[in-house]
Amino acid sequence: MTFASIDHLVGSGTPASRPRVAVSSCLLGINVRYDGGHRREAFVADVLGPRVDWIRVCPEVEIGLGTPRDPIDLHATGDPRRPKLLQGDRDLTSRMRSFALGRIAELRAREIDGYILKARSPSCGLAHARLVRPDGYVERVGTGIFAQALKESWPELPMFDETDLDMPLVGLARAEWIFVMHRFRVGATDPEGLMRFHGEHEERIGLRDRDALPELRSVLASAGEPSERIRQYARRLSRAFASIPAR
Ligand code: SF4
Repeated sequence: MTFASIDHLVGSGTPASRPRVAVSSCLLGINVRYDGGHRREAFVADVLGPRVDWIRVCPEVEIGLGTPRDPIDLHATGDPRRPKLLQGDRDLTSRMRSFALGRIAELRAREIDGYILKARSPSCGLAHARLVRPDGYVERVGTGIFAQALKESWPELPMFDETDLDMPLVGLARAEWIFVMHRFRVGATDPEGLMRFHGEHEERIGLRDRDALPELRSVLASAGEPSERIRQYARRLSRAFASIPAR
C-alpha cells in the first residue's frame, strides 16, 4: 500500500485537522503485551501514524496489570457475549468491564474519530480471541471484553483490527472510513455544514454504498431538530463506509 494511494482517499489535512484515533498500544510498538513484547503494525505506525493523532489504550495495563504478566483468557459462560476474563484463578471480568465503560466515556468526551484494535486479544480483540469452553476445549470465537463494550456502546464508531490492513483494498477503505468521519465531525456542525459535507461527499458515498444516498437525502430533507438530523446522518454515513468496496 503506498502513501500516494492513501493520500488520494483521505485528502491532505493540515496537522491541526488530523483525526484523533484510539489504538491498542501494542500496535504502535509499545511493549505492553503479556509477554513483555509488542505487535507493531507497519501500516498503523508508519502510514497512518503521521496523518492522525493517536490516543493509546492498553486496557490490561490500565487496569493495573504489570508487564510481563501471566496470560489471560476468555472463558465461556451461558451468554456468548458475556464470557469471563480469567488470569489463572483470578477473575478480572468486572474490573475490565467497569474500566471499559469509564475509558469509553472518556474517549467520547475527546471526540475520537476511530479505533484500531489488536485482533484476537481477550481484551481488545473484535473477533477470533481464544474462548475456553467448560470442558477445556478452545475455540477462536471470542470477542475481547473491552472490544465488546466498545461495540455495544458505540456501534457507529469506525473500528477495525489490524488484520484488515493486510489486504490493501480493505486497509484503504478502513482508513477512508476514519478520515471521512473526521471531516464530518469538524465540518457538519450545523445544517449548512451538513449540506456542504453532503455535496462534497455524495459521489464517494454512492461508490461505497449506493443504498445510503436516498436514506441520507431523506435525513437532509426531514424537519427534525438539527442536532438529531446530524446524529442520524452520522450513523448512516458510518454504516456506508463500514462496508468493504467491491473489487
Ligand atoms: S492487545 Fe490490548 S490489552 Fe493486549 S497488550 Fe495490546 S493493547 Fe494491551
